[in-house]
Amino acid sequence: MSDHMSPEEFRRHGKQVVDWIADYLAGIESYPVMSQVKPGEIRSALPSGPPERGEPFEAVLSDLGRILLPGITHWQHPGFFAYFPSNASGPAVLGDLLSSGLGVQGMLWVASPACTELETVVVDWLAELLDLPEHFRTNAKGGGVIQDSASSACLVALLAALHRASDGQVTSDGIKRRYTLYVSSQTHSSLEKAARIAGLGTSGVRVVDVDPRTLAMDPGHLRTLLAQDEAAGAVPAMVCATVGTTSTTAVDPVREIGEVCRERGLWLHVDAAYAGVAAVCPEFRWLNDGVAEYADSYSTDPHKWLLTNFDCAVLWTADRAPLLGALSILPEYLRNPATSAGSVVDYRNWQVPLGRRFRALKLWSVIRWYGAEGLRAHIRKGVGLAQELASWISADPGFEVHEPHPLGLVCFRPEWPGLAAAEADAATMRLLQLLNASGSVYMTHARIAGRVVLRLAIGGAATERRHVEQAWEQIRWELAALSTTLP
Ligand SMILES: *Cc1c(COP(=O)(O)O)cnc(C)c1O
Repeated sequence: MSDHMSPEEFRRHGKQVVDWIADYLAGIESYPVMSQVKPGEIRSALPSGPPERGEPFEAVLSDLGRILLPGITHWQHPGFFAYFPSNASGPAVLGDLLSSGLGVQGMLWVASPACTELETVVVDWLAELLDLPEHFRTNAKGGGVIQDSASSACLVALLAALHRASDGQVTSDGIKRRYTLYVSSQTHSSLEKAARIAGLGTSGVRVVDVDPRTLAMDPGHLRTLLAQDEAAGAVPAMVCATVGTTSTTAVDPVREIGEVCRERGLWLHVDAAYAGVAAVCPEFRWLNDGVAEYADSYSTDPHKWLLTNFDCAVLWTADRAPLLGALSILPEYLRNPATSAGSVVDYRNWQVPLGRRFRALKLWSVIRWYGAEGLRAHIRKGVGLAQELASWISADPGFEVHEPHPLGLVCFRPEWPGLAAAEADAATMRLLQLLNASGSVYMTHARIAGRVVLRLAIGGAATERRHVEQAWEQIRWELAALSTTLP
């Protein structure tokens, strides 16, 4: 065997790999959705040290099937209803493969002009598909950028917000005052992590109350907290409103929150990681309400619901200057005429790492393969199935459905007549465990007002009506079986 895989060897193995993936996807329903292995089981089946001599690639493929597959949770399985979907699709996989094949590291425009310029084109395309405001476009004051995750998007937004709130002082001298970040109890944990990384600490995160029914942020309480903190000498840096919270897809009132922010010149970030992409459909554009008028930054994840393999999160800003102010540094070894002339975009200044993958290629492949109408059809199918499921659950007196559920996620729980809250919650968790151990579905849970609910998120590319029907049947069946064992 030669040291490097020759182009001819690559061609042969590459075809094997593509066949492997096609066979895997064609037969995905034969696997248990959630991996059933014990902690350490996969690791102990693997050699503890690396081989001294190279091995044929077939050995890797063979171990993938034999050792690793049992430890894989099948996110593309039609019975995967956990967390949020993380869609893969043929065009995205192939786009990512092409990106790997080119092996480009696109830290600077000059490091591969097409890597930067295609990204500019696709983030502008996506802004148009989602009907986001004109000022988010690259030719305007703002602009979009592909990040690895919504977590990074939120961190970067916070750094830009701190830069603006401190007139650049945080960027030059570090944190010298007490800066605060406003979230709700339903905000994603990545915001608290961002606050820690940025030096605000967990105590710099102020938690705004939510409406007990809708779980949306209460703008009145936000105003109260801001007044209290300002009176105590703190400097509010950013409010994060969520469009589609992780637990229940609650939608914060961006417009009213935006009003509060505007009064104070306070940065508003809108985290629409899961739900934002639904705005490809005109009937879901209400999700964008207030974004055009008030959002300083906005992010959504094509890697969740929009058929683009992880990782692909897009962040837009209304004005890129604070972001660039916070993150631009030009060391000598990166100097080049195009950058110095200011005639190009260098996305390294829009993110935490220097290096960048050519992620635009997979998003471009996806948008071109599906077209706007294909993307709309995918979103509509997921929402339609979720609404049907919710109607079946609502019609069953043994269950309670959390309202509202406008998108692809339905949260619900069995009534458990005769059981006190704590026992009922334990029984719901037991039901979840039994369902997930069955291998045909995978669901997760959340807590609403202290009570455990089951989350069933629909939106996988392979999920059809029959899979949702089967899941609902199985839930009722497992519930009936479990109920007979209860006191
Ligand atoms: C999933 C999610 C995130 C985190 O997304 P990553 O891209 O995995 O970092 C952030 N916010 C919300 C509302 C989410 O649902």
